[in-house]
Formats: sequence, structure tokens, C-alpha cells
Amino acid sequence: MDWRTVFQDFENLDHEQKLELFRAIRSALFPDTPQPLAALVGELREARFAQAITCPHCHSRSVKCNGKYRSRQRYLCRGFGKSFNYLTASPIAGTHYPELWQRYFECMVEGLSLPKIPKKLGIHVSTAFYWRHKILNAIRALGSDMLSGIVESDETFFLESMKGKKHIPHRQARRRGGKSQYKGISHEQICVLVALDCNGGIVSQVAGRGRPTAIDINNVLGQYISPTVTLCTDSVTSYKKFAQMKGLVHYRLNANKGIRTKKGIYHIQHVNAYHRRLKSWMERFNGVATRYLGNYLFWFRFLEMHKGMGKAQQRRILLIQACRKPIKTPVHVLKAALRPFPFSVSYPNIKRCYTWKTIERAGMNMLLLSSDEMLTSRTKIHKIY
Ligand SMILES: [Zn+2]
Repeated sequence: MDWRTVFQDFENLDHEQKLELFRAIRSALFPDTPQPLAALVGELREARFAQAITCPHCHSRSVKCNGKYRSRQRYLCRGFGKSFNYLTASPIAGTHYPELWQRYFECMVEGLSLPKIPKKLGIHVSTAFYWRHKILNAIRALGSDMLSGIVESDETFFLESMKGKKHIPHRQARRRGGKSQYKGISHEQICVLVALDCNGGIVSQVAGRGRPTAIDINNVLGQYISPTVTLCTDSVTSYKKFAQMKGLVHYRLNANKGIRTKKGIYHIQHVNAYHRRLKSWMERFNGVATRYLGNYLFWFRFLEMHKGMGKAQQRRILLIQACRKPIKTPVHVLKAALRPFPFSVSYPNIKRCYTWKTIERAGMNMLLLSSDEMLTSRTKIHKIY
């Protein structure tokens, strides 16, 4: 076939379709070149203002156009007179290095561990760390989607890690690759609950310490499970209680008695395979600090949900998702991250929200506090993160 015959139809496309085609051809020919941010403007803007143009500061819809800055349309909120654009309060808001961010998203898709990134991008390891958690916080803020149909659920455990902390109040510090001082599942094991449905929906979150109770399960899964769901789990009684609480049809598989499947379709093999993939993916990080475990779970969930796609496509979607919801993480969230797990404590006296710049500054100070020279050698870097 001659390329001219294909090109003849080009004129029949409208402008948007032409652009789509151009992007598709470019990413097919040069899969490794990141698209310039400018090419994503339309998608980023649509993702951010999917419902309406809303002020990221006060969520008011009463806004007006306010000229352009660096060819980006700006808006002015009539409520508090604050100005914003479609990237305000996103991880890449106000960036001076759009290309670097694009390449950073590539590192995220590849799941690079922290010490590899400075070599690749020429940024400081602490910058790499904060960029990572900016992105992951934004992804995490989107939450999970409702599950439907047959839902498989099971828990897995990660040894509690106080990586980066100098003083551990409640136990002796473990050396690298250390073991729990208790046999089996204890409060030193952090429980991660995973639920999958047949449409590719995934919920994967920290449920607490040790074996989960029905309440723990409900706290994680309750909001994502509708009454029409059929639940498949192992024979742990907490699931039975949870299923009763929610009034679900429940199939319990008892592997110890050799019952791995019921009626041919009810099993927990997909969720167990997910656990195995999650564990082997996490190995590259040499143990993740428990305070960041939730972020890593959302990272892996993203990769799993988009694993059929090419790397370029994954990077594009990750970027768009990370900028979709304006997220202002209050500084106490970062500070709370330095406290021992559980970190979901609320601080009623801290109400003010800070912008990312303030948090970054606070975050840097925290790193400096946790000692400058710790950043000097590669092994020590591992210790912090
Ligand atoms: Zn406003």
C-alpha cells in the first residue's frame, strides 16, 4: 500500500482527529520521546475541569477568565479573588522543568528505585523523593473505584518498617533484612487488604496491624462494595462477619481442606497472584517505610490497571491522573508521616492548608533535621527512604 492512499483521507478528519492521529503516529514511531507538555494541554485541562471550571482553592464555580500567562489560560475566582490555571495545586504546578518531569513520569512507570533516578535525570535524590510522593499523593487522592460482580479479597502482610527513623519508641531497631521478633502474624506485621473484581477494578490499601477484624475490612472495602457483589475470600471469620454486615453473597475457600474453587468460578487465585506480583515488585525498594506503604500500594495499583499499554501511554495517563485533582496536602500530613504508624491521627488544632511550596520547604527542613550527612552515601540513602 502506498502512503499517499492513506493520506488522501487525512483531509476528511477534523482538527482534533488530525492531532490524535499525529500523536498516535509519533508515539508509534518514537515510543521513547516524551510528548511535550504543550501537546497534553487539552487533555490536562479536560481532566481537571471535567465537571466544571472550579476554583482549586475554595471549589467555587463562580470564576472568570483572567488573561494568559505563558500561553496558559488563567482564571480568577470571584469568591476570594485568587487566580489559578489547570495545573494549580498539581504536582507539576509552577515547574521550571517540564521536560524533566516528563522523564520523571517515565521513571515512575518503570518503577525505578530512588538511587537510580539521580543518575538518570541529574536531580538530587531528595528532589526525586519529593517528586515521587507528590505524584503518589495526587494519585492516591483520586481513591479507588466501586467494585462490582464477583469480588475476590485477601490480605497480605509487610513487616513494619521504621526506615529513616533514628529512634524507635516501641522496639529494638532491626538490621537490614531483619525479622520480626514474633512468630507468625503479629502487630509488627502491617496488613494490606486487596480486593479485585472481574472488570479490572482494584482496591489495595493498608488495613492496620496484624490480622484484620471485620471492622478493619469494612474501613477499607466497605465504601467500594455494593450490596450486589458476590464476595470470595479464604475461611478467616472476619470476612464472614464483614459479609454478614454488608449482606453479601459470600463464598469461603478453605485451602487447608483443599477447597480452592467453588462452582468452577469462585476462587481467590487472582488476588493471590496479585499479592505475589506486588511482593516481588516491592523487593527493588529494599523495604518500604510503613509510613509510605500506602503510596506504594497506589503506585503498583496504577501499573497493574494499565499494564496492557505501552510505556508511553502509561506515562501519559499517569501524568494526566496526577494533575486531575487539585491536592493541597496540609503540612501536618507530612509531619504525621514522621510519626509511628498508624498515621491517620487527626490534629484538630491544625486547620490551615498550605501550598506545595510550603510543604516542600517544610519537607526539606525535615530532611535536613534528620541529618545532612545521611544523604552522602548510597547505602545511607537507602536507610532514609
Ligand atoms: Zn476560590
